[in-house]
Amino acid sequence: MIRVYKHNEAPNSLLRHISWTEEDVINRLQADQHGKCYLCERIRFTDFQVEHLKSRSNFPALAYEWSNLFWSCSYCNAKKLASFDNILNPAQQNVEELIHQSFDFPNTKAIFSTTAESTEQSTATIKILERLFNGTNRIRTIREQRFYEYAMSKITSFQNMVTDWLNDSSKENEHAIIEELSVTSEFLGFKYWIIKSNEHLLMTFGKYIIWNKG
Ligand SMILES: [Zn+2]
Repeated sequence: MIRVYKHNEAPNSLLRHISWTEEDVINRLQADQHGKCYLCERIRFTDFQVEHLKSRSNFPALAYEWSNLFWSCSYCNAKKLASFDNILNPAQQNVEELIHQSFDFPNTKAIFSTTAESTEQSTATIKILERLFNGTNRIRTIREQRFYEYAMSKITSFQNMVTDWLNDSSKENEHAIIEELSVTSEFLGFKYWIIKSNEHLLMTFGKYIIWNKG
């Protein structure tokens, strides 16, 4: 999960309170989020939905509020229930800096922790991310397992590129990593922390650790 830079202006359909699922809303969210789900950072993966950061059931007045809307995949949308109304707002906070995001491969789980003092928002964000990546119960459902394996395969492949570059810092290996750090690439929240974990990586690729700078 990373920061999202959204257009300042609300789409017309919201201003006129027509609907939050009109094309202008969807198109703007897709563009602002580079086609990625704001929670899991997968791209054009499953059917996407317009999601209310603060749920409609608890915050009906925010139903047409542009700043409250995000583009989400159906997997994340189904897991982010009204009990997660208080997660970090990725349009206002640098989530990729506030939440450390990594994989514990031997124990087949993703690990999230806060880099600052815990707040209600960071705790809720870690809880939803854990549900997405590690499942709601101790044993993952088939869908949760598929999700985990996809994310793990992407991060493993990035980790291999990093190892290749550390062994042979050729231009070709360097470009492969730069490509993976582009704003349109998946799972940047995890990739950034891999780069930040090693001073050689940080020296060469630090300038590519930028989030959605609009
Ligand atoms: Zn998602």
